[in-house]
Amino acid sequence: MSDAIAVLNAGSSSLKFSLFAGHGDALELTVRGQVEALHTAPRFVAKDRHGKIVGEESWGDGVKLGHDGALDHLVTFLRTGLGEQLLTGVGHRVVHGGLEYSRPVRVDAKVLSALDRYVPLAPLHQPHNLAPIRALLGRAPELPQVACFDTAFHRAQPEVAQAFALPRSITDRGVRRYGFHGLSYEYIAQALPTYDAKAAAGRVVVLHLGNGSSMCAMTNGRSVASSMGFTAVDGLPMGTRCGSLDPGVILYLLDELKMDARGIEKLLYQQSGLLGVSGISSDMRALLESDQPGAKAAIDLYAYRIGRELGSLAAALGGLDAVVFTAGIGENSAALREQVCRNARWLGIELDEAANVAGGPRISTGASGVSVWAIPTNEELMIARHTLAMLDRADVRASG
Ligand code: AMP
Repeated sequence: MSDAIAVLNAGSSSLKFSLFAGHGDALELTVRGQVEALHTAPRFVAKDRHGKIVGEESWGDGVKLGHDGALDHLVTFLRTGLGEQLLTGVGHRVVHGGLEYSRPVRVDAKVLSALDRYVPLAPLHQPHNLAPIRALLGRAPELPQVACFDTAFHRAQPEVAQAFALPRSITDRGVRRYGFHGLSYEYIAQALPTYDAKAAAGRVVVLHLGNGSSMCAMTNGRSVASSMGFTAVDGLPMGTRCGSLDPGVILYLLDELKMDARGIEKLLYQQSGLLGVSGISSDMRALLESDQPGAKAAIDLYAYRIGRELGSLAAALGGLDAVVFTAGIGENSAALREQVCRNARWLGIELDEAANVAGGPRISTGASGVSVWAIPTNEELMIARHTLAMLDRADVRASG
């Protein structure tokens, strides 16, 4: 019987899962799927690695399944659908590990209550991430669970990169720059040496451009600065999030437009970014296909802000050896990559247009002073690797 690791990524309205088999570098995805629309019209679908549907269920309109119900269904599916595989551990994507967690952690009741303390720092994500951990701890306490954090990769940044220019009393409450998408950046940091060992050991900026977008400056595979700060609404504009904003705008919304905190939250997280600027869609594909002026305005602003951030992160690094595009837009949109690279010629970037259209992986010319890459990210695999490593360490301790 072979071992399997489940990876869970719980959002506000969905529970995504992947199942991995094997060991070390040979970890292989076997099944992935999700329960979505948890509170409106829940649907479950699971597909094997070839895309063949291996599980499907619908609960109908108006049914509220919630995270617990979704987890129940998933556990039953895994019990009956695992075949010859034995579930040895579950890895979870958790958005916030605060100042305390700079690496993944095996979760027990004590750790879970420590992670609960970070709910105020990420109220839109953390409670959903923790819900399946809590439920599984109650149902299967013997099953090892590992929390992997979006913030952890950035914890080693220099102090100056983490600080806001606020009074000490506020900073001491944990109001500082954390950075997110750390599991994606860690995966790229591990993958890049196989593409460009010299650059990977040098100064690299990774552009994680998806529905959520951010950028990370790395030296020798370690994060030294990132575009996201205290929350995942900072930095670049995103599908529906505004990115960096003059704090004076918030005061204006409060004082002049009489908006309250929840209204502002909705505006900044759900109604801004590509959607807000274009007035059309939060989806880059839809904008690239549209001939309406709003679509072009949104894409131009997105590319412009990426360019500004690239200059800023190159300054934090004191130079630039490589740039990596990843996530939905970064991996798939040759047009956006071209626009960004054209604007960044001053940094020594020379795009190989044919290679870019072909999808890379290298999309810069041989003469380019900075090598540029399009590399698919894999946050789930990163979580599976961490979970397996944690289980292996526990094994060593148990037998030592
Ligand atoms: P992610 O959050 O990483 O799944 O990325 C989602 C974003 O990637 C959406 O804005 C999609 O429109 C965008 N995307 C996916 N495929 C493409 C493509 N072929 N061209 C342009 N954008 C794409």
